[in-house]
Amino acid sequence: MAANDEPRPLHFIRQIVADDLASGKHGGRVVTRFPPEPNGYLHIGHAKSICLNFGLARENRGGVCHLRMDDTNPSKEEQEYVDAIIRDVRWLGFDWGDKLFYASDYFDRIYEYALDLIKKGKAYVCDLTADEVRDHRGTLTEPGKGSPHRNRSIAENLDLFTRMAAGEFPDGSRTLRARIDMASPNINMRDPVMYRILRAAHHRTGDKWCVYPMYDYAHCVSDAIEGITHSICTLEFENHRPLYDWFLDALETPHHPQQIEFARLNVTHTVMSKRKLLKLVKEGLVRGWDDPRMPTIAGLRRRGFTPESIRDFCERVGVGKNESLVDIALLEHCLREDLNKRAPRVMAVLKPLRVVIENYPEGMVEEMDAVNNPEDSSAGTRKVPFSRVLYIERDDFMEDPPRKFFRLAPGREVRLRYAYFVTCTSAVKDPATGEVVELRCTYDPATRGGGAPDGRNVKATLHWVSAAHARDAEVRLYDHLLSAEDPDDAGEGDAFMSAINPGSLQALAGCKVEPGLAAAAPGAFFQFERLGYFCADSEDFRPDALVFNRTVGLRDTWARAQGRKEPQARG
Ligand code: ATP
Ligand code: MG
Repeated sequence: MAANDEPRPLHFIRQIVADDLASGKHGGRVVTRFPPEPNGYLHIGHAKSICLNFGLARENRGGVCHLRMDDTNPSKEEQEYVDAIIRDVRWLGFDWGDKLFYASDYFDRIYEYALDLIKKGKAYVCDLTADEVRDHRGTLTEPGKGSPHRNRSIAENLDLFTRMAAGEFPDGSRTLRARIDMASPNINMRDPVMYRILRAAHHRTGDKWCVYPMYDYAHCVSDAIEGITHSICTLEFENHRPLYDWFLDALETPHHPQQIEFARLNVTHTVMSKRKLLKLVKEGLVRGWDDPRMPTIAGLRRRGFTPESIRDFCERVGVGKNESLVDIALLEHCLREDLNKRAPRVMAVLKPLRVVIENYPEGMVEEMDAVNNPEDSSAGTRKVPFSRVLYIERDDFMEDPPRKFFRLAPGREVRLRYAYFVTCTSAVKDPATGEVVELRCTYDPATRGGGAPDGRNVKATLHWVSAAHARDAEVRLYDHLLSAEDPDDAGEGDAFMSAINPGSLQALAGCKVEPGLAAAAPGAFFQFERLGYFCADSEDFRPDALVFNRTVGLRDTWARAQGRKEPQARG
């Protein structure tokens, strides 16, 4: 039963959970988990899994979702990543109560379970090297060959395994393997390695262990220990499910979670693998994991995305069994829909052109009433200072305008938003370069507020700021991190590196913004009228050094494309 009334599309996992609740399977409980490996920052793909797992717990009465750090590989894991994961899941709006776990907390029990398997004759110590294990494994068409150590006695296996854990053997010299079936058509079942010897300090258990369990073994046991009911993972684990079930059946664990696979999220113009994202960070191609161009949760947050928009996106992409590539324009569309409702409107000029209103009294300042958010009347109005010298957007003036350019040009009248009609009388040029450096205008005092009493109209309304009052700002414009729509097409290699968009960051200095923006809180979002949605950079913004990120432009390429076709997901 849904815990609240938000309409949610039914997908196959919601259906499975609903059926299991109805039939009383798993004792009528829903216990899910989100199990990140702390070897990198979370990305938008993880957000899909987070929304799914925490969502199922939230939607179902009594549902619980655990946050479990899957920290069984000490060589790549760090506390920084643990902290980032916790921050990001919480920021997305989810709460695990006291259910924060670490797979490493179970190392003793996972080890005990391994001893159990040995005692049942279902695991053995193997002395083959990693290369030999691979050679013995066989192929999709040929069965594997049994290890010469496959038939060691239980006593010898117990002795060797405890000595492995006690540090008597060098790294990589022996493994503990499950004794399953070297002829299985599923290669995962051909006596997979359960434990390896590895002398590496673990971020939580330090040097206590020199044997570490492999993912397939540790993961199902961790799920069982926690009493997970529905263990949801991505499709690449489908072929591992028989192994998941084999371990839990062999161990006769009190709980046997049900593994369910769904298609991972892929998004155009970006990559979604932590290894690849780490490479971008390490090679300095981005400023860090939270670079606003990164598809990480930290990057999206810094870029100005809201948790609401990311959750909405994850709901809209749906949960299915077919891999698809989702247009990044859909993510931006979800953000625009959210910000359109909530972002305060302000005026900012990115490429300023000076305008002098020649008939406006020197020294006079008027406070113009500006609407904070036309979508939300409760947002009220604010005062914006107007004076004789202003800045407008350089692109809003053309000396010799083509037919469809309706903005400012010599002799033409336009509206300055919330202020007056102004007419351009002349353009002042730099004698050396010929560049227009200033416009001379007149204003019509009868049009205060932006309407003419005689009913005459103008074809354009421009944004502006008062030169004497405006604050300087740096504005960072972002574009796709990768030029190629599907940079992962080339597979697991590093081909994506050649697709990096050299124009993905453009920093504009000397932008001019409304004075009130100096008081913005880092992270605060705005609509810069006519330009897009922007946010105060959470790291670099200071009251005396204003830095804004363009989160997303106003033009909705996704909504436009919707009119023609359905680009939401392509198989
Ligand atoms: P990566 O490929 O980025 O390294 P991973 O699967 O190794 O990802 P984990 O930390 O193991 O990273 O992922 C935690 C959970 O998030 C897993 O259950 C995984 O299936 C899920 N997940 C990871 N990437 C995606 C994705 N692109 N779409 C949906 N779920 C994902
Ligand atoms: Mg993984």
